[in-house]
Amino acid sequence: MGKKLTTRAEDYSKWYNELVVKADLAENSGVRGCMVIKPYGYAIWEKMQAELDRMFKETGHENAYFPIFIPKSYLSKEASHVEGFAKECAVVTHYRLKNAEDGSGIIVDPEAKLEEELIVRPTSETIIWDTYRRWIQSYRDLPLLINQWANVVRWEMRTRLFLRTAEFLWQEGHTAHATKKEAIEEAETILDIYSEFAEEHMAVPVIKGTKSEGERFAGAVETYCIEALMQDGKALQAGTSHFLGQNFAKAFDVKFANKEGQQDYVWATSWGVSTRLMGALIMTHSDDNGLVLPPKLAPIQVAIVPIYKGLEQLDAISEKVLPLVKELRSKGITVKYDDRDTHKPGFKFNEYELKGVPVRLAIGQRDLQNNTYEVARRDTLEKQTIDASDVVSHIEKLLGDIQENIYKKALDFREDHITTVDNYEEFKQLLDTKGGFFLAHWDGTAATEDKIKEETKATIRCIPLGDEQEAGSCMVTGKPSRQRVLFAKAY
Ligand code: AMP
Repeated sequence: MGKKLTTRAEDYSKWYNELVVKADLAENSGVRGCMVIKPYGYAIWEKMQAELDRMFKETGHENAYFPIFIPKSYLSKEASHVEGFAKECAVVTHYRLKNAEDGSGIIVDPEAKLEEELIVRPTSETIIWDTYRRWIQSYRDLPLLINQWANVVRWEMRTRLFLRTAEFLWQEGHTAHATKKEAIEEAETILDIYSEFAEEHMAVPVIKGTKSEGERFAGAVETYCIEALMQDGKALQAGTSHFLGQNFAKAFDVKFANKEGQQDYVWATSWGVSTRLMGALIMTHSDDNGLVLPPKLAPIQVAIVPIYKGLEQLDAISEKVLPLVKELRSKGITVKYDDRDTHKPGFKFNEYELKGVPVRLAIGQRDLQNNTYEVARRDTLEKQTIDASDVVSHIEKLLGDIQENIYKKALDFREDHITTVDNYEEFKQLLDTKGGFFLAHWDGTAATEDKIKEETKATIRCIPLGDEQEAGSCMVTGKPSRQRVLFAKAY
């Protein structure tokens, strides 16, 4: 298994990078900023996808697929959208290579220049709204509720496995509505789906809110988001849902005849979560021994390790274990019986610990005689000897307990790291010593937001949604503030 992980206290960022690689989730590739997602990491992503996909379909959305290339002229149609994405676009200019005449190798054929450059999609609003013009004529065609699972490319300069890569996998929803009210409701419905998914499946507590103008999606009227807190006290934007107003309908001339027969522009939303969620999952729960996975997203929920000498002993153990495997599977639990004779039990224990398998069973000669299993839980590292006749119900309960326990642990941490401050000096000091989220009053101006960002590196993560808002005065300028907003240093 190699040497131990760097600890979180030693170097959090190094710990993260080592963990992603050692737990076999992903690795850097030969392409700058692009990662290889390995089978174990991809299996977790598939579980996330399956659950999100179910939630989208349950709320009336359908999947479709649009081209990876966007003509440059499309991207330019919505002014603030192109301005936001221009700095990080990959552009296709040619469509052919050829052998260099001087024999120096393969070169781009200068004669194969595209008439119009193509942008590798950084997001698909433009190509999708160009299509919606053909799909939408009347109020009967609305609402249009489409989701796409895809890869996108944003030429990020500072990349990190899962958290920020140049190419990433995501889903992007693009919906069209007859009224403003309906579109806003859609953006809010999706925000609720994202937060429910984060909390109930990933066991990651999130705060829902809206972005300040400076942090808003390029082309949006309002950006809703969920924000999570990592163990090093830094925030991570875990998902966004945008109310786009009629901006894209106007840019792409998408009108519909309303019930009164009048022509009106269509209202829009878009929303996405990406493989960044993997980063959130890893950073929220894992410890110095490795990954800790919530049972609901763990590719292997239970690993069973036989401890034996010689084939005869292994056969006796297998005879006992195989019916158990079958029974657990019949209950929808994913089990791996690791009877590989190429690795020692100690190696296997380490591997499952590193990979965050929620429950590990071990069975040796004494267990066979006593009709027991040793059951270890990954979250607390506790071990118990359980009678074989109780082991199935014990595991079922344990999986539920682990899911709950890691959520509660993450929630307690977050609650301990939300500080209410009224004084800018105190804010600056606590930001460095304690970290985490800060609830503070802000005068609502971009100037103050920029000043805080410049002086402290903290940004407004969101303007929290909720009823109990209290007015006050800005911690920097003393000007009136409608409500406290959430600040943090962020990934
Ligand atoms: P956006 O389209 O900018 O609202 O982003 C949609 C989702 O993708 C958000 O949940 C972001 O956190 C996530 N995201 C944005 N940029 C990246 C990136 N470079 N790598 C991974 N995820 C990203």
